[in-house]
Amino acid sequence: MNIHEYQTKDLLKHYGVPVPPGRVVHNDAQAATVAEEIGGSRWVVKAQIHSGGRGKAGGVKAGNSIDEVRAIADDILGCLLVTHQTGPEGRLVRRVLIEQASNIEREYYIGLVIDRATRRITLVASAEGGMDIEEVARNTPERIFREVIDPAVGLLDFQCRKIAYKVGLKGTLLPQAIKIMKGLYRCMRDNDATMAEINPLAIVDNGQLLALDAKMTFDDNATYRRPAISELRDFDEEDPKEVEATGHGLNYIALDGDVGCIVNGAGLAMATMDAITLHGGRPANFLDVGGGATPEKVANAFRIVLQDPAVKTILINIFAGINRCDWIATGIIQAMRDQNITVPIVVRLAGTNVEEGRTILNGSSFPFIIASNLNDAAAKAVTTVKSIVTHI
Ligand code: GDP
Ligand code: MN
Repeated sequence: MNIHEYQTKDLLKHYGVPVPPGRVVHNDAQAATVAEEIGGSRWVVKAQIHSGGRGKAGGVKAGNSIDEVRAIADDILGCLLVTHQTGPEGRLVRRVLIEQASNIEREYYIGLVIDRATRRITLVASAEGGMDIEEVARNTPERIFREVIDPAVGLLDFQCRKIAYKVGLKGTLLPQAIKIMKGLYRCMRDNDATMAEINPLAIVDNGQLLALDAKMTFDDNATYRRPAISELRDFDEEDPKEVEATGHGLNYIALDGDVGCIVNGAGLAMATMDAITLHGGRPANFLDVGGGATPEKVANAFRIVLQDPAVKTILINIFAGINRCDWIATGIIQAMRDQNITVPIVVRLAGTNVEEGRTILNGSSFPFIIASNLNDAAAKAVTTVKSIVTHI
């Protein structure tokens, strides 16, 4: 789960990380009022969408008067911002953050990520802040420094000092940098985040370090015990199909292929996607209907998968243990009847009550393509998609 920049900054403030004075607003009149309230002579107006690269896309602009702030806010609000992360369709800006502008002397990057190789949170820092850190990592990896954190003792002062010296944060900046790194780490741990970063962490004109942009990502499996974080979820920023699926107890992730997948179990869903790819096809989604999938749940799975107009064939792959193939078959028939489904359906059933399931499918008048195993199912789904494409 992702949250907005202004929400991240609110969290970080409570952990002693300095951020510029500012507030989020929904219209240009509020923008002017907030600019007046926070004072100063220069402000930045920042589009709040779940994406980086807003600066380059025109989503971060400075104004030198209250009128300018109002005009910029009016400009940015309601526009579709296209960044390297949003895709060509862009993302609608519904709120902007108004902040006092700072005179930047230098920009740094500080982040905490989970390193899968060491299975530990790793502090990452660079003096090449502001821009895309992925680009720095690609072109000049020697300018990025890392410190692996032992979970038993947490982030220690000496590690912060080591990293600070490497990126050149010395003198009066050093104690500030240590406080910020430790605050960021505590904020990450306390809230079950999987990633936390400040980019840029800037030296501003009075020799202070200030977090000008910040981002955090949270573990979806832990939000149940972090109500304060769950509340920050912005459904406008999420794929509506994924939101609906969560409501039905389905685990759905949209992808960009054309073979829709309805599978039970995350492992089998992954294997099904692999098999489709192996046969030269592309999955349109990941969908795990879970154990004990009732006919209603299966019908909901169809509804969600078919909301994606790119889907040309659906592959149903069920290995029933807790599930029952007869329930799944009943759900399939129910969906075929209620939803007027016209795309070809490839079905592979195995496990509990498989004979009953097959009987239900065969007893209907729908032209299911029955597969005997996973490999056969993937091959048939891909062949079906290709024949549809060549016919058009
Ligand atoms: P991102 O492009 O989505 O990562 O958004 P950022 O918040 O990082 O903004 C992009 C760039 O705008 C930063 O790297 C800064 O150079 C600049 N910027 C952001 N806030 C300020 C500010 O208060 N003053 C000035 N002068 N520049 C800022
Ligand atoms: Mn940034």
